[in-house]
Amino acid sequence: MQVHENYPLKSLNTFGLPALARYFAAVRSIGELQELLASYRSGPKLILGGGSNVLLTKDVDGLVVKNEIMGITKTGEDEDVVYLRSGAGENWHSLVLYAINNGLGGIENLSLIPGNVGASPMQNIGAYGVEIKDVFHELTAFHLEEKTNYTFRAKDCAFGYRESVFKNKYKGQFLITDVTFRLAKRPVFHTEYGAIRQELEKMGVSQPGLQTISQAVINIRSSKLPDPKQVGNAGSFFKNPSVPAETFELLKSSFPGIVGYTNADGSVKLAAGWLIEHSGPPEGGSWKGYRDGDAGVHAQQALVLVNYGNASGAAIYELSGRVMQSVEEKFGVSLEREVNIL
Ligand SMILES: Cc1cc2nc3c(=O)[nH]c(=O)nc-3n(C[C@H](O)[C@H](O)[C@H](O)COP(=O)(O)OP(=O)(O)OC[C@H]3O[C@@H](n4cnc5c(N)ncnc54)[C@H](O)[C@@H]3O)c2cc1C
Repeated sequence: MQVHENYPLKSLNTFGLPALARYFAAVRSIGELQELLASYRSGPKLILGGGSNVLLTKDVDGLVVKNEIMGITKTGEDEDVVYLRSGAGENWHSLVLYAINNGLGGIENLSLIPGNVGASPMQNIGAYGVEIKDVFHELTAFHLEEKTNYTFRAKDCAFGYRESVFKNKYKGQFLITDVTFRLAKRPVFHTEYGAIRQELEKMGVSQPGLQTISQAVINIRSSKLPDPKQVGNAGSFFKNPSVPAETFELLKSSFPGIVGYTNADGSVKLAAGWLIEHSGPPEGGSWKGYRDGDAGVHAQQALVLVNYGNASGAAIYELSGRVMQSVEEKFGVSLEREVNIL
């Protein structure tokens, strides 16, 4: 394991931001992590997976650890499910393909989400009606100060919408080393979300299976979301905010086109993209396609902020603040950033 000084992180974050790490190392095992931590008095300033949900607003004055702990193993099974343990450094989509190729269901709707397995429970990633919490069994996390391993079951993780204890209570305290998923031998398909059914029809599929659902999701995502290889971004920059049902009714009377979905608890989740699209910069015009230097709002997806090339993380952060303020002023609704800010 090599420790680098003043290491460029530009190729390691999907925004393509040019921050430097004072020290940088990639670890491939807990042993390597322990060896690394033994030589630093203070713990890592940042744990990095695929860098697809971070906004680096400045250089990192400390140690950055890239998690490259690999390996996928079957740890158990019963009549209905297989327990699949994956190293945190495995690419998320590769794990999805591994599951599909082995006939295991549960994560096919999460195809093509960028990033690595380790961040998936931290973020409780989700798409097309499925979240990690639905298939999560347990994870192992290494406490960076105590230097011991802990096992977390679902009840310990406090999963919420793009939330878990690792983003809140235990922020910065643990490095997730592996995650075990509970995958179905006889999968139940979720095709009722987004445009999956229409896409399957377009593909000429009448009997959907793991492979075809995954392909439908891939097709939809590729046509809707900007590819970070073409233009720097971190997917949805903001969360969809929830408001009480009465607030939604009030908003609807003033803004009849407002988009919202009723949550299980009766509150309403508003489409943040719609709110952004229908507010706008103070100088007039639309946020959609807005550009200030190389920082911008994507022309097709107002929820996605982009780096057209040479924007700084600070400029993107500042733009996100302006978007939030305009939504607050127009609708009285506070947006929250989904992306992890550093
Ligand atoms: C084009 C695009 C589309 C996207 N679509 C979706 C989507 O549909 N649904 C969705 O939920 N997300 C989506 N995302 C966001 C992103 O893919 C997920 O949040 C993903 O889980 C991030 O994984 P990562 O490995 O890149 O995490 P990173 O960006 O490297 O890290 C994210 C956070 O997790 C922490 N972290 C990472 N690994 C570990 C670890 N092993 N232990 C402890 N902490 C860790 C980091 O410190 C950081 O705070 C999208 C992103 C992009 C660029």
